[in-house]
Amino acid sequence: MYKGTGASSGIGLGTAVVVEEAELVIRKETVANQEAELERFKGALEQSLRETEALAEDLATRVGEKEAEILQGHVMLLSDPMLTGEIESAIKNEAVNSEYAIETVCNTYADLFDSMGDELMQQRATDMRDIKTRMQKVLLGIQSVDIAALPAGSILVAKDLTPSMTAGINPEHVVGIVTELGGRTSHSAILARALEIPAVVAVNGLMEQVQNGDFVVLDGDAGEVYVNPSQDVKEEYEKKRQVFLQEKKDLEQYIGIPSVTKDGVQVEIVANIGKPEDVDKVLQYDGEGVGLFRTEFLFMDRTAMPTEEEQFEAYKKVAAAMNGKPVIIRTLDIGGDKEIPYMGLEKDENPFLGYRAIRFCLDRKEDIYKPQLRALLRASAFGNIRIMVPLVTCIEEYREAKALVEELKKELDEKGIAYKKDIQVGIMVETAAASLIADIFAKEVDFFSIGTNDLTQYTMSVDRGNKKVSYLYSTFNPAVLRSIRHIIACAREQGIMVGMCGEAASDPVMIPLLLAFGLNEFSMSASAILRTRKMVCSYDTRELQKVAEKAMSFATAGEVEQYMKEFVEKGTV
Ligand code: PEP
Ligand code: MG
Repeated sequence: MYKGTGASSGIGLGTAVVVEEAELVIRKETVANQEAELERFKGALEQSLRETEALAEDLATRVGEKEAEILQGHVMLLSDPMLTGEIESAIKNEAVNSEYAIETVCNTYADLFDSMGDELMQQRATDMRDIKTRMQKVLLGIQSVDIAALPAGSILVAKDLTPSMTAGINPEHVVGIVTELGGRTSHSAILARALEIPAVVAVNGLMEQVQNGDFVVLDGDAGEVYVNPSQDVKEEYEKKRQVFLQEKKDLEQYIGIPSVTKDGVQVEIVANIGKPEDVDKVLQYDGEGVGLFRTEFLFMDRTAMPTEEEQFEAYKKVAAAMNGKPVIIRTLDIGGDKEIPYMGLEKDENPFLGYRAIRFCLDRKEDIYKPQLRALLRASAFGNIRIMVPLVTCIEEYREAKALVEELKKELDEKGIAYKKDIQVGIMVETAAASLIADIFAKEVDFFSIGTNDLTQYTMSVDRGNKKVSYLYSTFNPAVLRSIRHIIACAREQGIMVGMCGEAASDPVMIPLLLAFGLNEFSMSASAILRTRKMVCSYDTRELQKVAEKAMSFATAGEVEQYMKEFVEKGTV
């Protein structure tokens, strides 16, 4: 068995098709006629552009707009006058062949992106190499592997999949994807999830282990790959595959029904999103709204801040698509682990305790916060938008943000611009300080959403990204659980809505506890919605009180988790 990273859920069994892109050999040659060589380059550029545009269009209609964005990004790169200008200069000034000019210029950029070390930039590097190869192949007259023509039952095996390769996949024929490189958030992983093809990425040494025609079994959740396994393993995984498919199908019966417990307690199951296009999946999985729109994604992966107008369009799109259902939009939450290069933020000594989120926004009211709040208010005329302030630690921060909203409302009134007059403004409760004074906050704010990802970090004093101390990072720790229970109790005492948008909200082992505490709203990735609704519908909160009481009596995170796991598996204690 080979271990990798599970990148797209499901079990795949099939025949390996090893896709090896021939290494292009690029030689430096001197050209006698630079003008003719420039024409040759322009021709190849033109053809690469046309091909990429066609692929993007095809992907947009077959899979979705969001997925096509990656290839539209390639179109933009190919149309970037700076990039093509540099290649042209190399041809002109150094009298080199187009293939070589492309190689050096694109590699310089790709290496630069790679050296920045973050995942987003590495993706940019992959994109740059993808367009480089595309242009070179056109010049050299080399055909790409035709992935669209793979036979039924294929497991695609590759070192890495470029977005343009993945785009050609026919999900009827490709039953699994395994790659040696990549990560959960690489483009190919995102596409695999969109196409709902099971995938495992980052399998070390994969290419030496698999040959064309080998029988491959993969588990896209556990991140496991078997090559030519025994009959027993094959049968076991075929069964698992059937169970997975059946469960998926069974969950469809939870579309269109309310999220109500056996004893009639209704909760809302809503979605976390990062881009307007994500609402397609929210609607597909019957989300009852959006519980967290992480707006920082609108600011990432670009070279300048989105304008008020661009933000307005994005917020409006989500509000309109959700058609009156609540849409909680969180104002910019950058800093900490989320960097945006063009914002010019200096590296803090202690990023998670530093200049970030609301602290940064209140310091940059004119150029950053007000345009965002104005865009949110204007978009609120098109749906049920609620504004959420992140990383609040004291009531003054909330008051200052709220005062800005009021000031902007007046400004819009004077200009006769529409907005939702009674727009709610709530907070993320994700710091120890906010939790401890949740009773004070509950009297003033319109709603709470518990951010357990950060609440766990700040309560346990443990960096959420540091593997060396990750054994302490558990939401099941009694300290974190008491905090959650307290926050919910304070909200209910004042009659305000309390939701949760951290990962814990969709953890099956945590859900019964949260129901017992009285959580009103569960916000999670769209694909977890139906599974959560099924769980909610299966419980009686009166019985859960006893379970919660027992769970809260344990001294360690391990004991609580073990007890809850057993309860969830058996349905009783
Ligand atoms: C959280 O902290 O729980 C949360 C939902 O926000 P993020 O993960 O974006 O910090
Ligand atoms: Mg957070």
